Amino acid sequence: MRKTIFAAVVAATTTAATLLLPVGAQAATTATVVSPKRPLNVRAGAAVWTRPLRTLPNGTAVSVECQVKGQLIDQGPVRVTDQWDRLTDGSFVSDAWVRHGQPFPPCTDAQTVAAPAPAAAPAAAATTAGTVASGAVALKTRSGPARAAVLYAGLANGTPLNIVCQLPGEQIAGTMRVTDRWDRLDTGAYVSDAYVNRAAAPPSCDSLAAPAPAAAAPAPAAEAGQSRWVSPLPGFSARPGFRTPTNPNHVGVDIMSFVGTPIHAASAGTVVEVVCNIEAGHSCDQAGSAAIGGCGWYVKIQHAGGVSTLYCHMVRRGVVQAGQKVAAGQVIGYVGSSGNSSAPHLHFEVHVSTPPTSPGNAVDPLPFMRAHSAAIG
Ligand SMILES: [Zn+2]
Repeated sequence: MRKTIFAAVVAATTTAATLLLPVGAQAATTATVVSPKRPLNVRAGAAVWTRPLRTLPNGTAVSVECQVKGQLIDQGPVRVTDQWDRLTDGSFVSDAWVRHGQPFPPCTDAQTVAAPAPAAAPAAAATTAGTVASGAVALKTRSGPARAAVLYAGLANGTPLNIVCQLPGEQIAGTMRVTDRWDRLDTGAYVSDAYVNRAAAPPSCDSLAAPAPAAAAPAPAAEAGQSRWVSPLPGFSARPGFRTPTNPNHVGVDIMSFVGTPIHAASAGTVVEVVCNIEAGHSCDQAGSAAIGGCGWYVKIQHAGGVSTLYCHMVRRGVVQAGQKVAAGQVIGYVGSSGNSSAPHLHFEVHVSTPPTSPGNAVDPLPFMRAHSAAIG
């Protein structure tokens, strides 16, 4: 019931000359911007919430150094992809809008914005110390690395912080720096690194297998009622993908994200399964692939009214236990790519008239969540 998250990538059709340029450590390859309706945005990072730097008209030749994994873009004319092309000046364009005759190499140097998910690494116990430097206003803690994510609470200026790791998100100009980095705290919440005074740089969240366990999950909002629904990955969006003509057995939607992003219970309920579901001979504790069956580490929650939700491909066993009651918005696990998955994302299912869940009682999560005032993205 799971599937590979990417549609077949459309092969580039034009040939492009290869130029070896004396810029940077990696050779650049020429490519062509395909953006007939409006100029293409060139950005500071590999996501649309990063700072726009300039625009390029349709047909512009660009020199691409390498590619990084970033936000999935499904609106481009060339392909559906989460790959972003780094130009020779360090800026980025989505590869969904770029035609080229040969694949670009992955970026391998320190300027990589969102490194490809590594194989599972040991969890780091240490945290990086910092303090809030937000002046007269409180620093907002959120459920994800963007201001669009759910607001948890404010931290007063001078509050000590224990930073687990950093990941790329929305660009923020703060008191300490202008940055797209967000710090994940040991509470599970995020703050913009623009307002954090710290001596050392925290590690990348991509380099950690999983963050702190359940005890560190942020306190769910006080108004958590039986009927409140929230997006399982606030700040990230899903593209339609439920029972498509090309994949009629895909009974959920895929929400692209980054390894380690907290996954939230979509509503209050009882955890009924915390399971590794994978083809024999493989491990859920490492990134899977399109060739491996199963939904990897998943959590299933039974809600009131005979509704169940399922959350697949977690980076590690969920941080809740079967039988445990959870509130809407409570962190239940972290995004990964375990099982039948070719890039970090959450496969999210909603079932009605449960238990039990079955492919037959799955409903499209996008209209369901919209109807419950919790649209995904
Ligand atoms: Zn899926």
